[in-house]
Amino acid sequence: MKINFFTLTQFFFQQSKKAERSLLRQFYWSARAVKQKRTAELFSRKAKDRIAASERAYIQDQSQCKLPFVVFCIGNAGMGIGSQIKGFNRRGGRWIQKLHGRYAIVAITNEFRTSQTCVFCYGQVIRPLNSVGKKNNGSSRCMNPKCISFMQGRAIRGRDAQASVAIAIAGTSALITKKTMEPFNPSLYT
Ligand SMILES: [Zn+2]
Repeated sequence: MKINFFTLTQFFFQQSKKAERSLLRQFYWSARAVKQKRTAELFSRKAKDRIAASERAYIQDQSQCKLPFVVFCIGNAGMGIGSQIKGFNRRGGRWIQKLHGRYAIVAITNEFRTSQTCVFCYGQVIRPLNSVGKKNNGSSRCMNPKCISFMQGRAIRGRDAQASVAIAIAGTSALITKKTMEPFNPSLYT
């Protein structure tokens, strides 16, 4: 074998890499690090359970429902259903649905156009501009002058709050009539 400068540097580089590798493994798989990782896992599970329980209690309280169960309409975006890239780019995930599913009924709802539709007149909403002229992506404004919210001076609402009401309407109507409501029907738009 011909030894030149490059093979020598490569050899030393590999040797130093090997030495560092064992050091890193010692650090990341030390008893303390493993214990810390395990504790974080257990505590995050506990925190998620508490978040879901408080959400259920809040909804049960606010709805003044006397029934022993609540139906959750959860939007289907971010669950990666029908995704071509399996498991990747899956935002949100299914953990909240699984946690609620242990104690309540979960109805997965198609959230098509729920953030684009006014819940009072089913018209199109826009993202309003602020005083500087920048688009405010966190709120929805109904532009229909005959809409009841427009006439009452309440045309601008929070985007997520309105979308959650729209998901509840879409899910409830789908459960009762077994059909998708027209404003939320993807086949009418695409
Ligand atoms: Zn409206």
